[in-house]
Amino acid sequence: MLSRLDLFIDRMVSQRACLDFAIAQTAAMTGPVFELGLGNGRTYHHMRSYVEDRDIYVFERAVASHPDSTPPEDRVILGDVRQTLPASLDRFGPTASLVHADLGGHNREKNDVFARFVSPLVEPLLAPGGLMVSSDRMYFDSLTELSLPEGAVEGRCFIYCRD
Ligand code: SAM
Repeated sequence: MLSRLDLFIDRMVSQRACLDFAIAQTAAMTGPVFELGLGNGRTYHHMRSYVEDRDIYVFERAVASHPDSTPPEDRVILGDVRQTLPASLDRFGPTASLVHADLGGHNREKNDVFARFVSPLVEPLLAPGGLMVSSDRMYFDSLTELSLPEGAVEGRCFIYCRD
């Protein structure tokens, strides 16, 4: 039986391991990086610290991040991802080099329902060779799930690739 603290630590450690892996794997790509769910801005700040020479766009319904971790206004795609993701396909096409999603709350069943809804909206945005990192299992037709990098905990983070 894992405590909530155990689960939280596993999630944080896994997010970092998966993001570091995905940032390195896609470093030669030039397409934008999408952060789905800004929250406090910790993972956005991590990506901003380590992603080089790529634009990072943040999808969020209400910005309430730490001041050090707040993206510039022109990099925020404000609104519900159920609307902003389809609109972004018109704007960007299938160009994203990396998509990170951390949209869930505390209810795992609700997170799973939401992940099923959002998966087909994320899927067409990824460029060939692009990676998607998610805190929830996603449901993709055309992306391949990858093994987790060292340091990540099974079930706490997921990585998918467009071949
Ligand atoms: N990764 C972030 C961090 O490190 O601070 C935490 C993200 S937090 C768990 C989830 C965020 O997703 C919240 O800020 C919430 O407002 C946002 N979110 C959840 N559902 C959304 C939706 N349908 N559209 C846009 N944003 C959403």
